[in-house]
Amino acid sequence: MKREDFTTLTAACAKCGTCRTVCTLYPERKAEISVARGKITLVEAAFSDRDGNAEALQEALSDCILCGKCERECPNQVAVEEIIMKGRADLAEKLGIPAWKQVVFGKVMPSVTARNVTRTAATAAQKVFLRRVPTGSGLHYRFPEAFGLSGRTVPALPGKSFLGSLPPGEAVRGEVVLFVGCVFDHVFPQVGRAAYETLRLSGKGISVFRDAPCCGLPALVSGDRLSALRCVEENVRRLSDASPERIVFPCGSCLVMFRRNMLFLLPSGHPLHGEAVRVADRCVDYASFLLETDVLSRLPDRPKGEWAGQVGYHDPCHLSGTLGKGPEGREVLRRTVGDSYSELRGAELCCGYGGTFNIRDYPTSAKIGQNKVSVAAGGGAAVIATACSGCILQMRDMAARTDPSLRVVHIAELVSKAFSSR
Ligand code: SF4
Ligand code: SF4
Repeated sequence: MKREDFTTLTAACAKCGTCRTVCTLYPERKAEISVARGKITLVEAAFSDRDGNAEALQEALSDCILCGKCERECPNQVAVEEIIMKGRADLAEKLGIPAWKQVVFGKVMPSVTARNVTRTAATAAQKVFLRRVPTGSGLHYRFPEAFGLSGRTVPALPGKSFLGSLPPGEAVRGEVVLFVGCVFDHVFPQVGRAAYETLRLSGKGISVFRDAPCCGLPALVSGDRLSALRCVEENVRRLSDASPERIVFPCGSCLVMFRRNMLFLLPSGHPLHGEAVRVADRCVDYASFLLETDVLSRLPDRPKGEWAGQVGYHDPCHLSGTLGKGPEGREVLRRTVGDSYSELRGAELCCGYGGTFNIRDYPTSAKIGQNKVSVAAGGGAAVIATACSGCILQMRDMAARTDPSLRVVHIAELVSKAFSSR
């Protein structure tokens, strides 16, 4: 690992242990190594030659959901996520990246064609190999236990992506860009469509960012710095050239990549740093854009409660915690579903997804996620609305295990429904 990259970052840690009291993973692991303080101590040990076991350090840094709760509660503002992501990248460069990750992050995620081919193949495969599981959120498919995936369910994939459903001349120009994200394009195109249709109600010209690479977050958190950098550089160049007023993100994870993480990859001194800062300043979450353009004032009357206080808002860790956008999501929901809204029990509890953490340790990820949806359902929730693709994937899977009638949706779907039903 590169000493100069880490010394300033780790030196800020006072070893106070506050991070242990809030860590999402600590109750499962009960081990110091699972919390920020333990990981930082190992990084420091690696620099001082007290512990040169790179594999052990890689294991420790990989065992993290990247929920950011430690960082937000840290009295010294230690940049825990930056330390972990940079550490993962340096160790991946030293120890190598597994072949499947090289293919997914280096070949599939940056390429529209490869993503389309993958979705088409996966759509056909899930119908042949997996068992159908109808749920309140729509059809899902369950992997057999024998696959070693502990009965994971995945949503039924569509035949067409959201971008694939747009006519060639539509949403090409506009002062506002919609960055729909891979999941809301390929897995839940109805979310991409709902976001697009409701953004248009602002009266602004909406162009959809086409042929875009992934935001780069999955590659970055997996330690594949090169693939992440390729995505980020192309996105910054193209968005800088287009120079829109606003870039709107239905997904909180893509947004945190643009608002914060891409500057880890394009730091001060990088030729694209200035453009990256200007692009980041224009990026905004879906709910904030609806509120700043007053779209919801067009809803003709206060909606009548359909679910009688049973619709609540889940706080995505990065959108609500890191970027502080929890109030905006709630406000949009309250104004959209009226009396059906109430505060979700355990709204701030992490869903346990953590991107590749969900693949690395599915049983632990599922245990945290099942607790999340059980607490919400125990508080009377019938619908969990949110604004992050990872949270929706995870909570739908968890609902299919614990309470298949529980619906998990994006707030844009409810906004779109509210407009179309009046
Ligand atoms: S809360 Fe912050 S300063 Fe305290 S041990 Fe954790 S990372 Fe270090
Ligand atoms: S990011 Fe979350 S899971 Fe990782 S160490 Fe911090 S609190 Fe624990």
